[in-house]
Amino acid sequence: MPFSPSNALPGKAGRLLFTCAIGSVCTVVICNAVHRPHAPSADKDDAPAVSLRQRAAPVQPASTSPPPPPARTTESATVDQTFSDAAQSLGLGQSTIATLTEAFGSSVDMRRDLKKGDTLSVIYDRPQGGQTAHDEPLAVRLTTGSSSHDVFLYRDPEGEPRYYSKDGKSTKPAFSRYPVVFTRVSSDFSLRRFDPVVHRWQSHDGVDLAAPIGTPVHATAQGKVTFVGRQTGYGKVIMLENPPPYSTVYAHLSRFAKGIRNGGTVKRGQVIGYVGETGWATGPHLHYEVHVDDVAMDPLTVDLPGDDRLHGEERQRFAKEAKSLSEALNG
Ligand SMILES: [Zn+2]
Repeated sequence: MPFSPSNALPGKAGRLLFTCAIGSVCTVVICNAVHRPHAPSADKDDAPAVSLRQRAAPVQPASTSPPPPPARTTESATVDQTFSDAAQSLGLGQSTIATLTEAFGSSVDMRRDLKKGDTLSVIYDRPQGGQTAHDEPLAVRLTTGSSSHDVFLYRDPEGEPRYYSKDGKSTKPAFSRYPVVFTRVSSDFSLRRFDPVVHRWQSHDGVDLAAPIGTPVHATAQGKVTFVGRQTGYGKVIMLENPPPYSTVYAHLSRFAKGIRNGGTVKRGQVIGYVGETGWATGPHLHYEVHVDDVAMDPLTVDLPGDDRLHGEERQRFAKEAKSLSEALNG
């Protein structure tokens, strides 16, 4: 659930009434929190045992010029071990496999839901006139057990490939700006500030959001818990590895939500803990950090992937195309 506290915009930040003093340990803690996002592994030595079948492409009339339109083909592979193996056997490149893994990520748990014998189908437009093919399939269906999940390609005006569900919803994981409904920003992100607790100049690698003790703290994006527990300075803290290249830190919590454990996964909007003043805090607030490629960024201004639904004419074009592709996938 996204949060947009209308009465608590960063521009309305109040005066610095109290601060958190974890700047001095942040360097250490960030090192602990460094977890490079994993790209889906697709570099297996053993040849994937997948069966491949190809449906006949529609016959295109022969002509000399202009070059014939691309032939639309549907190809399927049976999952033997991993999604990545099956995708590779269909000729998909690493970056496309990563994009699709992310696209299916919200509906399919690739480790738990995917079973031997599940199928992956892709639709391509194969150029016939020597044009270069795009690597990205136009449509992809992943059938796990009795349920199937479809995503459809849409190129944005810059030609960037994106996958959407049939109703035009982006499959890219979204990020909320604020993890908590806060009363004010009690301390901004800064590269250098005077710390009243340790009496030293240091950077503040996050933002302090003042809120009463016990206010629920929500995960700003889906993620894996890389740390839950106590750390000097941070007090009770939760660290999440979010969709690459992001990771987030929630500190000074009074307590953790039930079921939050190391290695577990959380959904966007899920309550993970409650505001407190544990660690080096001089008042109740949430100390929140956003790291991009392990570099601390200002959480209030950092670029975040949003819910980019298709709208208007774009949406209509997409819907028409998705309908015909979906019929093709049904065979
Ligand atoms: Zn802070």
